[in-house]
Amino acid sequence: MIRIYNTMSKRKEDFVPLHEGKVGMYVCGPTVYNLIHIGNARPMIVFDTVRRYFEYRGYEVNFVSNFTDVDDKIINKSIEEGVDASVISERYIEECKKDMAAMNIRPATTHPQATKEIGGMIAMIQKLIDTDYAYVAKDGTVYYRTRKFRDYGKLSHKDLDNMQTGLRMLAVTGEDQKEDPLDFVLWKPKKEGEPYWESPWCQGRPGWHIECSVMSKEYIGDTIDIHAGGEDLVFPHHENEIAQSEAANCCTFARYWMHNAFLNIDNRKMSKSLGNFFTVRDILDQYDGQVLRYFMLSVQYRSPLNFSRELMESAKTSYERIVNCAENLRFLLEKAAGKDTMTEAEAALLPEADAFRTQFETAMDDDFNTADGISAVFELVKWINSHADENSSAAFLQKLNEELETLTDVFGLILVRDKSLDDDLAAYVEEQIAARQAARKARDFAKADAIRDELKAKGIILEDTREGVKWKKA
Ligand code: AMP
Ligand code: ZN
Repeated sequence: MIRIYNTMSKRKEDFVPLHEGKVGMYVCGPTVYNLIHIGNARPMIVFDTVRRYFEYRGYEVNFVSNFTDVDDKIINKSIEEGVDASVISERYIEECKKDMAAMNIRPATTHPQATKEIGGMIAMIQKLIDTDYAYVAKDGTVYYRTRKFRDYGKLSHKDLDNMQTGLRMLAVTGEDQKEDPLDFVLWKPKKEGEPYWESPWCQGRPGWHIECSVMSKEYIGDTIDIHAGGEDLVFPHHENEIAQSEAANCCTFARYWMHNAFLNIDNRKMSKSLGNFFTVRDILDQYDGQVLRYFMLSVQYRSPLNFSRELMESAKTSYERIVNCAENLRFLLEKAAGKDTMTEAEAALLPEADAFRTQFETAMDDDFNTADGISAVFELVKWINSHADENSSAAFLQKLNEELETLTDVFGLILVRDKSLDDDLAAYVEEQIAARQAARKARDFAKADAIRDELKAKGIILEDTREGVKWKKA
């Protein structure tokens, strides 16, 4: 049974889907006005892994994640560059998809975009007006009447009256047409030079929160299983989504609310506005996307994660240990061709390997504890390294390989070394091997051994086989 920490109840709950065998989940996606930073990548990697684990458990997942493609920041950038806002958003959607691919994040079942869902937003806003949950101000702005929604604050566990003190300032900053400082915008009139759409209230554009209410309804349903995002979205974004959706649809909006903790740098949230960020692209210049993925999953998603070079280096070393194990298995499998029958001794060992899978599932069932899940994979790697050798049958090796690939696939880790990073190394090693062969031919064994030892010191192991010299990383 999968258990999920629900932000709403503040405890772990058994996951019971709305429809048997199916999961409908919605993850708030990025605002596309720039390259994404690695803080934005955390929810992407985390919830892609959650999706993969549900699939591993046999669920069919309808995974919806939006791109916010109309927003002040996008508009400002389009004015700066003198192009249409859609040029900016389409450009950064493409760039975001490239980054996702490099981190092996699977495309969502649907990636809706706000600007393509305006009709649905107008319909929901109209419904809120008709039921008195919203009102139209003099200039055509439509506001949500927050106090009318009795449950407002139930997700963020905030008290309305405390909120009011915090928000009172807004009343003197030009929002004086609101009935109440707590009210928030559903639709706003256009300003000169901004993109706009026709609506019954004014030419304008939607507020931010309404898009997620509308898209999750459109692509999943009135009630969805899981709604997710970074913890900064709990208030006000998700609180406002609940108010909109539950008032309009008259039913529970989301059954489980999942929020990842921040990716920090020097113990502060990484963010565009603080300027303390690295783009995913910056990191991909130095590391394989798989290493970034490994780094993100090395802690459970509700724990803060502090970014540092040391941790990235250690993620790299750990990831490479798993890759080495997989490459060694593939190498041994080639050598074991034809040995198709598992020996009795090997068959007797298999339950030991299976135990790591149980350990992995226990960790992942417990609110997707990827940190412990990865430890289980490491123990499997250690076990494989000490039980697979050149005497193993192909059937046994194949089984171990499957076991390793199945578990690492849940983490989205591809067990092939990034060839582009290794090309230089490969060329160097091949050169040294050729020099060693030449030294051997000339019966200069001291030199041949010295070359082998030098490679060994660099973490490269040579193996003399009938087909020639093979090499691998230690
Ligand atoms: P934004 O483009 O700012 O709306 O963010 C897109 C997603 O990234 C949201 O789910 C945010 O909660 C999440 N996010 C932004 N910064 C961080 C961070 N430093 N750590 C974790 N998640 C973040
Ligand atoms: Zn959202």
